[in-house]
Formats: sequence, C-alpha cells, structure tokens
Amino acid sequence: MSAVETRYQLDRDALGELLSDHPKYRVEQLWKGLYEDGLDIAEISTLPKGLRSDLDTLLPVALHHRIERISEGGETHKWLWGLADGDAVETVLMHYKDRSTVCVSSQAGCAMACGFCSTGQEGFRRHLTTGEIVEQVVRAREAAKPRRLSNVVFMGMGEPLANYDAVWGAVRRIHADIGLSARHITMSTVGVVPGIRRMAEEQLPVSLAVSLHAATDELRTELVPLNKRYPIDALADACAAYVAASGRRLSFEWALIDGVNDTEEQAIALAALCKELRAHVNLIPLNPTPGYPTVGTDAAGVSRFQKWLLDRNTNATIRRNRGTDIDAACGQLRASQNKTTTSVAAPTRRPR
Ligand code: SAH
Repeated sequence: MSAVETRYQLDRDALGELLSDHPKYRVEQLWKGLYEDGLDIAEISTLPKGLRSDLDTLLPVALHHRIERISEGGETHKWLWGLADGDAVETVLMHYKDRSTVCVSSQAGCAMACGFCSTGQEGFRRHLTTGEIVEQVVRAREAAKPRRLSNVVFMGMGEPLANYDAVWGAVRRIHADIGLSARHITMSTVGVVPGIRRMAEEQLPVSLAVSLHAATDELRTELVPLNKRYPIDALADACAAYVAASGRRLSFEWALIDGVNDTEEQAIALAALCKELRAHVNLIPLNPTPGYPTVGTDAAGVSRFQKWLLDRNTNATIRRNRGTDIDAACGQLRASQNKTTTSVAAPTRRPR
C-alpha cells in the first residue's frame, strides 16, 4: 500500500471513492476527525484500528516539523515545515487580544521578485497544493487551542493569486470545513489584476489586501516589478470591481522604506487613491532582509507618514513588526537556513 494523496488534499467525494469498500458513514467520521476535531488519523477512535493504520499510510501529512519557534511570551508561533520534496515553507500564528491569526504560505519561493521581500529574493520553486495550504491552517488551529483561530491571511511565502486554483480550493475548505467566515479570510496580493477580477466572480467575499508600497508608477515599478505589467490604474480598476462585487473594504499594505516611499509626495498620491477606492492603509516599517541594502523608516518617520494620511482623511494604522526575535517576519526563518539568497540593488532614494 502506498500514499494516494496528502491528508488534506482530497475533498469529501474523493475520500468517498477511497473508502468505497467501507460503509458510507466512515467518510463522515474521517472528515469530522480531520476537520472538526483536528485529530491525527491514529486518534480518530470512531474508525476501526485497521482502517486507521491503512489511512495513515494512504493519506500522509504534507508538513513535517523542521523548526518551530515561539516568542514574545507565546504571542507569535512560527514553523518552518519540510515538504515531501525537501522544500520548506513557513507558517506564522499570531495571537492578539481579540483574535488569533494564521499567516499561510501559498508557494515555495515566489516569482514576483520584489527586491525588499526575502521570499522574492529566493525566486520561485513551486506552487503549494490545496492540501499543503489547508494543513497549515489545521496545524495552527490546533496549536492555538484553547484560543480559537479566528483569521487566516495569505501573507506568507508566495503570491497567492499566481496559484489561484489551489489557493481558492483552500479558501473554500477553510470556509466550509474549518468554519471561518469569508471576511475573516484575507487574500494579500502584489496586484495580479486577472486574479483580483476572478475573485470578483466568486461566491465568497473574502477580504482583499493589496501590497501597494508606492502610489506612483515610477516608484512602484522599481519596488514591485509586476507593476510594469499591471500599472496602478489597471490595479485600481480591478480593486474597484472587487469592492463593488464583494462589498468588502479594501486595504493597502505599505512597508515604509527609509527615504524611498515615506515621502509626503507618496502620502498625497496614496491618499488620493484611498479616497477613490475607500481603502484603508496598513503601515509597517520595512523589515530588514539579508539581501536588501535599505532599512525601514524609523518610528518618527512612520508617525509622520501616518499623519500626512490622516490629515487627508485617509484611514491608516501602524502595524507592529511581530516576531523579529525569532526571524518570524516575511520568509526570514527559511532565509536564515539558506544562505543562497541573492543581493538586490538599493532603490533610488527620494528627497523628503
Ligand atoms: N505576495 C503576496 C503575499 C505575501 S507577502 C503580497 O505581495 O501581498 C505579505 C506582505 O508582506 C506583503 O504586503 C509584502 O509586501 C510584505 N513584505 C514583504 N517583505 C517585507 C519586508 N521586508 N518588510 C515588510 N513587509 C514586507
């Protein structure tokens, strides 16, 4: 007997086929054990022992413990998972006063080549499967107990909308079987316009975050190479279509890079865009990464940039960098294990 698929890849119907020689209710028992109770197959006591051991072989887990770190008094929990093919991806669980959020990876590496991003510096290796994404959520949900996992954000390694089908398969499973509401699932994208337009056609109105980082095409193309293909106007149109279809508020992610995108000129352009799209801004000082020669804006500069936005009636919140003591930010755990990341040219500094 050999493995058929990873444990969280198959849907109910496919598991039904796998168990076609068994009574129908076995599928429900297995499904409940995996998705509702978060059990290992060996622990699903409603299933006969022999079947448990067969299923354990047929449906192996996809994620193998490589590194696990907990920091800040248990507030941030991070895993580097080894995959069957030897690759590795990260998952981060963050506890806040009012919620617990898991940040999941959607690809091993990333093809988008944003210079400031540690995963972008690595390049693309492969897409994750639906099962590999869902398993990250299940593992984090179990680790969060007794707290309830309330939010899933696609802000780990990879560009989720470049792996649309597998990611959307995971979104459906997270919604229907793990039980999170669509607005507690956030898709974060560098701005893959066709993907945003596809999301507008879906039935599940998930939250959309766009990693904007610059509000003029000249600077954005320098920071986010995909902007050449989908410039800000095209991106804004797709965002407007998504907001109209989903009824969700849009948010823009903005990593403040010292002397680069923390200028008043950028704040003015950003405020105009936010007004048009009724978007909210999440500000975070850039996390230093090994291959990028520029630092994050200091606290005073972050507050100044926020004030420029607030003065223009643009909603902007400052996010704390979480887990820097455990390399939890943005692909750094993997990067710390892998010294082959390439160095990236510094962005052009702008006068403030
Ligand atoms: N590819 C998707 C999701 C993964 S990146 C996207 O681009 O949205 C998740 C977020 O982390 C993005 O907003 C990304 O721009 C940001 N990010 C990447 N590297 C960072 C760094 N060094 N410091 C701060 N934010 C970073």
